[in-house]
Amino acid sequence: MMIAPKPSVSTLKPYVPDEHQCAIKLDANEAKPFLFPQGLQFADMPLHRYPDPGTDALKKSIAAQYGVNPGNIMTGNGSSALIELVIKTFVAPGEVVISFKPSFAMFGIYSRIHGADFSEVDSEADFSFDLDKMITAVRSKRAKLVILCSPNNPTGYLIPKAELVRFLQSVDALVLVDEAYMEFADQGETLIHEIGTYTNLIVTRTFSKAFGLAGIRLGYLFANPSLVDMLGRVQEPYHLNTITQVIGCMAMSRMAEVKTYTASVRRLRQEVMVRLRDLGIKTYPSSGNFIWFETEQKDLYQKLIAKDILIRAFGGQDTCYFRVTIGDEQENNAFINALKEILS
Ligand SMILES: *Cc1c(COP(=O)(O)O)cnc(C)c1O
Repeated sequence: MMIAPKPSVSTLKPYVPDEHQCAIKLDANEAKPFLFPQGLQFADMPLHRYPDPGTDALKKSIAAQYGVNPGNIMTGNGSSALIELVIKTFVAPGEVVISFKPSFAMFGIYSRIHGADFSEVDSEADFSFDLDKMITAVRSKRAKLVILCSPNNPTGYLIPKAELVRFLQSVDALVLVDEAYMEFADQGETLIHEIGTYTNLIVTRTFSKAFGLAGIRLGYLFANPSLVDMLGRVQEPYHLNTITQVIGCMAMSRMAEVKTYTASVRRLRQEVMVRLRDLGIKTYPSSGNFIWFETEQKDLYQKLIAKDILIRAFGGQDTCYFRVTIGDEQENNAFINALKEILS
């Protein structure tokens, strides 16, 4: 007997990570391994016990780092799990979740799984976001939740903070700002410190990108304590394993290394940007650890795989948009040199 899934799942397209095995992997915006946990002993961890359900030590170290209260924080198994938790907690079936296009695929996938009506506003021709268009759409569709990714994946576009503040003042909906890449942007653009002023604001962050710890699955969010309390009602007990909690505390205490790392990525991003432009490739400004570019070379993705280099292609078979993660100097050189060969 075949059991059918619920209707919202039967038509769902899953998120499929690219499993090509290439020597140079520039497809998933991962970092270099620089925060290697030193001196961690499994024997020191009470792994026979359930983990701390409140993740209190971790929340305390995050709170101290960002100058907020532990009651403003929620932790999760990656920020993806927190984005899903927000949808689960606040969006009833049939209510509208809205985002820009293109953006992170999981926004739509989670919305549909939970029966929401997922809607998108197109980016401008230069892949910037027109927030006035979003305000109009939020009002006309009576959206319950707006998800804004800044810096945006895959385009690298950063929404200026002043525009986001104006947006928050203009809508009644819940607003989630996904700041997975904010550590790679100019300073002073984060919305974290606006959570006291705007009680409809949630800001998500992750250890997967700037901290180089995608493998531990750890994300966190900032919001007004009443929003955090509501999320706590829905989150499963013991949501974060002990090993992840310990490594998260360790990483928070090593912010200086994170800043050194993100500064080096910013420098390398500028280098790769200039070299792509020198090759006549159309690039877009990026505040992330990746670059969004456009070329008529439609089979670029396959040709790079043949040279053992993996990037992301967007839009299906005859796409001309690509996203490349900023690697280390050697990886970037290999990518640019391969590109030169393919284009000549
Ligand atoms: C990588 C990424 C995340 C992080 O996901 P994790 O679950 O924390 O690994 C969240 N949002 C966007 C836009 C991303 O690109």
